[in-house]
Amino acid sequence: MTLQSVVAAAKETAATTVARTASENDRLGRFPDEAIGALGRVGLLGMMLPRDVGGAGLGARALAEVVAALAEVDASVAMVFLMHACAAMTIAAAKRTTAIERVLGDIAAGRHLSTLAFSETGSRSHFWAPVSRASSLNGSGVRLTARKSFVTSAGHAQSYVASALAPRGVGPTDTTLYLVDARSAGVMVASPWDGLGLRANASAAVTLDGCLVPNDLHLTDDGAGFAAMLSAARRWQPSPRTSNRRASSTSARRSAKRCQTCARNSRRCRSKPTASPRGWTMSSAASNRRGI
Ligand SMILES: Cc1cc2nc3c(=O)[nH]c(=O)nc-3n(C[C@H](O)[C@H](O)[C@H](O)COP(=O)(O)OP(=O)(O)OC[C@H]3O[C@@H](n4cnc5c(N)ncnc54)[C@H](O)[C@@H]3O)c2cc1C
Repeated sequence: MTLQSVVAAAKETAATTVARTASENDRLGRFPDEAIGALGRVGLLGMMLPRDVGGAGLGARALAEVVAALAEVDASVAMVFLMHACAAMTIAAAKRTTAIERVLGDIAAGRHLSTLAFSETGSRSHFWAPVSRASSLNGSGVRLTARKSFVTSAGHAQSYVASALAPRGVGPTDTTLYLVDARSAGVMVASPWDGLGLRANASAAVTLDGCLVPNDLHLTDDGAGFAAMLSAARRWQPSPRTSNRRASSTSARRSAKRCQTCARNSRRCRSKPTASPRGWTMSSAASNRRGI
C-alpha cells in the first residue's frame, strides 16, 4: 500500500460504510463496529506498522490524511482510528516477543483494534504520571490495578496499552507500559460512555482490577514508560512542526550525505558532524522502532 492508495481507501470507506452508519451511531451512542471492521478489511489498521510484520510502513502524513478523511464523515471513527494508531505504534516500538509479534500480525491483518489507557482518575491531564502501580509477581509478570478515566474504544478494543508506575519505581514518572489483553480477568468498563459529542467512540472509564500481565506483554523496561509515552504521543500529534521537521529532516539527510562525501574529500566539507539532529541518519525502520 502507498500513501495514495491508503488515502483513496480511507475516502472510499468513509463515503460508504462510515457515512451509512455515522448519524445513527452518534444518536444512539453506538460503537462503529461496522466502520472499524471495514477499515481493517482495507488494510488501514496496520498501515503504519513496519513491513516485516505485514504493515505498510507509512508515516505521519498518511495518518493525518486518513484521520482527516474519516473525521469529515464521522469524528468518532476518526478518534477510534487515531487512538488505535498511537497504540499500534507503541506496540511496534516494543521489544519483539512471540506474543507481541502475534498481536502485530493481527493488527496488520485488520483483526485487532488497540487503544491507549494512560489517563487515570488520579493523574487526569498529567497522564505521564500515573498513580497506579504494578506489583511484581516474582519475575513471572505483574498485577495491574488502576482506574483509567478515559479509554477510547473501551469494551471494543482487543487490547489496551496501559501505563502504571513500575513495581520499584521511585519518582512520579518511573513508569512501565504494558499490553493488557481485553479478555484478561479483571478488565471492566466502569461506566457507559454518554458524551455530548463524539458519542460513538466509547471513551469510557476502564477499571483494571488485579489484571495479570505476563512478561512477554511488557512493552517497555521498568521505568522506560515515560519516554515511550511521550515519543508515542508526540510523534503522531498533528502540529505545524510536523512539516518543518520533515523539511529539516530532508536537509539534514542531504548534509549527512555531504559529510559522507567529505570523508573522502575534505575540501567539499562545509558542515560540522555534530550539526545533525539526533536520529536523522537512522533508517525510517530504525526510527520507527525507536518511536521517534
Ligand atoms: C473523547 C476523549 C477521549 C479520550 N481518549 C483517551 C484514551 O483513549 N486514552 C487516554 O489515556 N486518555 C484519553 N482521554 C483523556 C485525555 O487524554 C485527558 O487526559 C483527559 O481528558 C484530561 O483529564 P480531565 O478531563 O480529568 O481534565 P483535568 O485534568 O481535570 O483538567 C481540567 C482542566 O484543568 C486544567 N489543569 C489540569 N491540571 C492543571 C494544573 N496542574 N494546573 C493548571 N491547570 C490544570 C486542564 O488544562 C483543564 O483545562 C480522552 C479524553 C476525551 C475527552
